[in-house]
Amino acid sequence: MRVAMIGSGYVGLVSGACFADFGHDVVCIDKDAGKIERLKNNIMPIFEPGLDDLVAANVRAGRLSFTTDLKEGIKGAQALFIAVGTPSRRGDGHADLSFVYAVAQEIAEALTDFAVVVTKSTVPVGTGDEVERLIREANPDADFAVASNPEFLREGAAIGDFKRPDRIVIGVEDARAQAVLEELYRPLYLNQAPFMVTARRTAELTKYAANAFLATKITFINEMADLCERVGANVQDVARGIGLDNRIGSKFLNAGPGYGGSCFPKDTLALIKTAQDYDAPVRIVETVALVNDNRKRAMGRKVIAAAGGNVRGKTVAVLGLTFKPNTDDMRDSPAIAIIQTLQDAGATIRAYDPEGREQAELVLKDVDYTTDPYAALTGADVAVLVTEWDAFRALDLARVKSVMTTPTLVDLRNVYRPEEMARHGIAYSGVGR
Ligand code: NAD
Repeated sequence: MRVAMIGSGYVGLVSGACFADFGHDVVCIDKDAGKIERLKNNIMPIFEPGLDDLVAANVRAGRLSFTTDLKEGIKGAQALFIAVGTPSRRGDGHADLSFVYAVAQEIAEALTDFAVVVTKSTVPVGTGDEVERLIREANPDADFAVASNPEFLREGAAIGDFKRPDRIVIGVEDARAQAVLEELYRPLYLNQAPFMVTARRTAELTKYAANAFLATKITFINEMADLCERVGANVQDVARGIGLDNRIGSKFLNAGPGYGGSCFPKDTLALIKTAQDYDAPVRIVETVALVNDNRKRAMGRKVIAAAGGNVRGKTVAVLGLTFKPNTDDMRDSPAIAIIQTLQDAGATIRAYDPEGREQAELVLKDVDYTTDPYAALTGADVAVLVTEWDAFRALDLARVKSVMTTPTLVDLRNVYRPEEMARHGIAYSGVGR
């Protein structure tokens, strides 16, 4: 089947490459000419494990190509995916749908034969209705249907998630469109696919409900961690103790610096706004967003406390900047607020991240970047581990102690054991232990 992926970012590029790998004929379209040029030269615009090889193999096989020309790119395609960004709108926190609607407009002008327009971007309830209205208005004769197919992949594990998803949610109310999408996803499964067909609005809301639930789970355990610190309990044991209950489940119960990234912060906010507009406020999610927001600067204060209550004139080594390992994505990373808090208090920041430097430089000022963790630690008064990259999981602790001015580590991911740190003479604090 011929597929057009409009928007070739984290979601569009990974989805496009995976569909091609399953044998479909995919064109990835993006209005960013630099991005398309790089892709044509097999230079990945993002860091995602395995993506370069997957793209190269499918380009070689003639199943994957790139263009900036939407009209050309969607020719003959039965499925037109919209995978552009839906960031928070400045000022009010609603999802900014201008990119989605711009694409709908362009599609309308270029449509010739029947095609399913599939919204893969995370969009508020009712966006599918509006996309349909826009296309119909601009091109009253067009033969098309609009479906919702939210994406659940995780950055850092995106290819595996796309190829072996827990479920595929399709919001579609048109039999022809449903048939196209079933055929498109069929190669993912040998037996029965966890394929769920619902009304379009239900599919749109399902994505927000999923992210809000996961954000709630993270925030819940983070608050338990704070309580553990006050009462002398261990949050990792609490998490295990509740997670072994199948009704709760053990995933997403790692206490840490608060959630970040390109999805949870903006999606919780957009859900809150939608719910308020419909007079059905989601109070739990409102609280989750508030608690999480406050937590990031609180983690900065935790580092200040570990440094004896004052970081003015001191050097803080920051290990990890991206919002999680195995991505270069810095969008809403907790590291940003933590570093700003420390800078506000007068600290000098020296940071190392295996892949995030380029993106970090766009959002953080006055940071001294190093090319390995020990260079960041050398001469530092306190270190904070923000992102649990593999490179930080087995640091040479004797070396850490010898290069730091005052060996002190704040481990916001609970990578290390307190006893181990004590043995090496490093002052240590984790989260909720
Ligand atoms: P992204 O910013 O990485 O990519 C979006 C791309 O769309 C950019 O390359 C941009 O140039 C392009 N674009 C914008 N307007 C365009 C237009 N008119 N024509 C062609 N291209 C255009 O964003 P992303 O992280 O891939 O997210 C895309 C959507 O998927 C968002 O709604 C997001 O919430 C959702 N989502 C993201 C993830 C994730 O992990 N990143 C996971 C699930 C869902």
